Amino acid sequence: MNIVLLGAPGAGKGTQAAKLIAEYDIAHISTGDILRAAVKAQTVLGLEAKTYMDNGELVPDSVVIELVKERLQEKDTEKGFILDGFPRTATQAVVLDSELIEMGRAIDKTIAILVDAEVIVERLSSRRLCRACGYIGNAADACCPTCGGEMYQRDDDKPETVRNRLDVYEKSTAPLIDYYRGAELLFEVDGDRPVDEVFADIKRALA
Ligand code: AMP
Repeated sequence: MNIVLLGAPGAGKGTQAAKLIAEYDIAHISTGDILRAAVKAQTVLGLEAKTYMDNGELVPDSVVIELVKERLQEKDTEKGFILDGFPRTATQAVVLDSELIEMGRAIDKTIAILVDAEVIVERLSSRRLCRACGYIGNAADACCPTCGGEMYQRDDDKPETVRNRLDVYEKSTAPLIDYYRGAELLFEVDGDRPVDEVFADIKRALA
């Protein structure tokens, strides 16, 4: 099963992706995670991406598309994959379609997780992640409830950057909802509910 997860930053894509990979044993492709790893490792790619990410802007299409193309060549994606945070622009969506056709693959479902902007701002300002295992929690977690690791706040979750990320989402990424609706691949889910309720709806849509 090949899935695209759409939604504003903080809509819950990462949380739902973690549940989906556990349920369906498919590969998780998060462009945000790949880029953050490159920034941390201070690779050429990371150094190029960092300024965009720090400002809440999108990393150029050419860079991100190359990353995803390479990742799709890896063996673990053959059993299925979840694209989390990609595509984010019309160009990325079109290139993804043609790349998948070339590989003899296709998207089975696009899930758009919808949450109001005000809720997102609140969620992101209190979002905290585990440095060790990547668990996504919030400011109430003194340490990671899964592994006991240290929790930290992403630089781009600071309020001044969040507003820009939401503007970028509205302008560049939200139009993709119509793109996938047109292709009859879209399932829209209200993401302003408990995690397990959202997940149950997603599973029903994938059944
Ligand atoms: P995320 O973890 O998905 O919220 O992504 C964090 C940041 O990485 C974004 O704000 C962008 O700067 C960059 N990024 C992630 N995915 C993409 C993408 N598909 N296209 C362009 N930039 C991206």
